Amino acid sequence: MKITRLETLFVSPRWLFLKVHTDEGIVGLGEPIVEGRAQTVAAAVHEIGRYLIGQDPRRIEHHWQAIYRGQFYRGGPVLCSALSGIEQALWDITGKWLGQPVYQLLGGAVRDRIRVYGHLKGGATFGDYVESAKVSADAGFTALKTGLFDAVQIVDTPALVEKAVERFAAIREAVGPEVDVGIDFHGRSSPAMSVRLAQALEPYHPMFIEEPVLPENVDALVTVARSTSIPIATGERLFTKWGFREVLEKQAAVILQPDVSHAGGILECKKIAAMAECYYAAIAPHCPLGPIALAACLQLDACTPNFLVQEHVTLGEGYLKSRSRSSTAPSSCRPGRAWASNWTRTHWPTSTTTARGRRRASGTATARSRTGKRRSAGDASGERR
Ligand SMILES: [Mg+2]
Repeated sequence: MKITRLETLFVSPRWLFLKVHTDEGIVGLGEPIVEGRAQTVAAAVHEIGRYLIGQDPRRIEHHWQAIYRGQFYRGGPVLCSALSGIEQALWDITGKWLGQPVYQLLGGAVRDRIRVYGHLKGGATFGDYVESAKVSADAGFTALKTGLFDAVQIVDTPALVEKAVERFAAIREAVGPEVDVGIDFHGRSSPAMSVRLAQALEPYHPMFIEEPVLPENVDALVTVARSTSIPIATGERLFTKWGFREVLEKQAAVILQPDVSHAGGILECKKIAAMAECYYAAIAPHCPLGPIALAACLQLDACTPNFLVQEHVTLGEGYLKSRSRSSTAPSSCRPGRAWASNWTRTHWPTSTTTARGRRRASGTATARSRTGKRRSAGDASGERR
């Protein structure tokens, strides 16, 4: 089998899909994207594509090494995201060729359901977030994530701390102690303020604090981690196993959040998870992206023992075909069951779950080309999750 062509598709709202075509007619799907940089990553994908044309797509590790280690300049969000999406597509081809889901090729399932967390949705007031928390908890989510503030000064006022605590306390009261609620600081706070905020928030038992400081300085993250009992999470802006090494060695975080579309792909994130396992740390893959990225995450989650919870913002509504009752869709959540479509059969291991036994995913996953939805540059907002 040989790779014949790489095709990129800009898809609303800010996604970039990749199709890797082969001479045997098998097409692999991937999602190579940095939020807000769809055109940039697409250019990188096509530059890498010059190497891939004519290659056997099933030599995934070999191609990963050639694209990453074989280059003088490597790493970073653009090149690693291009590599990640290509790697996902090569797994999709290999899974389709073997007739097996990818998790089966990476050790097999260690769980039957994938716990996902929901994002609280805001409105005009913070009361909207509280209402969103109630709605999500009632819908069956047992894990949620929220932000609490925008900009923070290096040393800020007691009012900022009090407001953040007041907000989180309201969410905690709304959902009760049975629901985990993580907080994303988005790297907006200084070490000094993150220490102060974490101490004030501790009585309300956040599930974790994500990116309490920016990721460039791991020692700053260590300062925060040593100051609080709240688990620290980071990783959406780290790339490859080398990017996570220092975080683990210094035990700066106990929850790693590699992004399967940024950190190097499915197998690279599996390796990062194995590194984390040595430090009794968990992974909670970052995924504010599209349905192909989420499908790739679910493959990793299904076969990774130290998986904690999966981020998601969409289950592909509007892009995934509805599951037909008469199709081969599973009647249970067991990952071994075949789903209806080719992409689904190889990539979606199971339904997602909110851990109250309710299935959340309702679609099979044949990504369809929606020409009317193509955009010139993906989304320019660069919104982080
Ligand atoms: Mg985040």
